[in-house]
Amino acid sequence: MRLVTFYAQGKEQVGFLMENGVVPVNQLIGTKVASMLEMIEKVTDCQLDAAEKALKAGGNETVPMQEVKLLAPIPYPPRNVFCLGKNYADHAREIKMTKISDTGIPECPIYFTKIASPAITDGDDIRFSPQATTQVDYEVELAVVIGQAGINIRPEEAEEYIFGYTVANDVSARDLQGAHKQWFKGKSLDTFCPMGPVLVHKRALPLPLELNIQCRINGELRQDSNTREMIFDIPAIISDLSKGLTLKTGDIILTGTPSGVGMGCDPPRLLNDGDIVECYIENIGKLANRVVRQ
Ligand code: MG
Repeated sequence: MRLVTFYAQGKEQVGFLMENGVVPVNQLIGTKVASMLEMIEKVTDCQLDAAEKALKAGGNETVPMQEVKLLAPIPYPPRNVFCLGKNYADHAREIKMTKISDTGIPECPIYFTKIASPAITDGDDIRFSPQATTQVDYEVELAVVIGQAGINIRPEEAEEYIFGYTVANDVSARDLQGAHKQWFKGKSLDTFCPMGPVLVHKRALPLPLELNIQCRINGELRQDSNTREMIFDIPAIISDLSKGLTLKTGDIILTGTPSGVGMGCDPPRLLNDGDIVECYIENIGKLANRVVRQ
């Protein structure tokens, strides 16, 4: 069940991505929804079952891809995006001696947040001005979208609180991360949160997730790992983050990046004008963006 937010016929809509186009969800479920957030809040398992059957049967009215502009699954997340730093051991080791972080493998999840307002998506440009930063880096990450509010969630019940999964690129200004000590600003520049375009419902990806995760720059494979390599897995993250902190419907959690970021290369290989960044996660999809220095 591959959901997308898209713009067509003069309005933002939610649909199921098919090979030949997008089937608007409002055709297949009894409840009208105007956004992905409404979809997450209102849709029931029965409606998803019925939609799945209808999609399998085919013959649904489909908006052709050439008439569709895909958006991020949740273009304007209601709150800052939650992020984990150093959640793959190989990445923690590669950045151990940089100015940004001098500690090793974390014993507790490291959290920060970033602004995505809006989150951009596949085909959009990552833009940066050299007046703001000259060290732009890429980080492919699995993003978890929360499906229902909860606090003090136990690891074994974490999956109940998930709606689905998407691909994200935690674009990072390394010079700002180093200068400001705290990561928020360097992670939050405009266009620095490409996400999507597909949001895969959790019923298609049961836990534990063991998905290949990769990032290519101009076709060259730079990051290549598997989500099973996370130090803190998804139930551990949801359980820990929700201790005393209510997770809300539509919250997004970026689960960290594996090794191979530009800053980890010697010498560093950061992003340049015209570079194409392709983030890929098995069974979810690809997120490609061009880098534009402006
Ligand atoms: Mg990151």
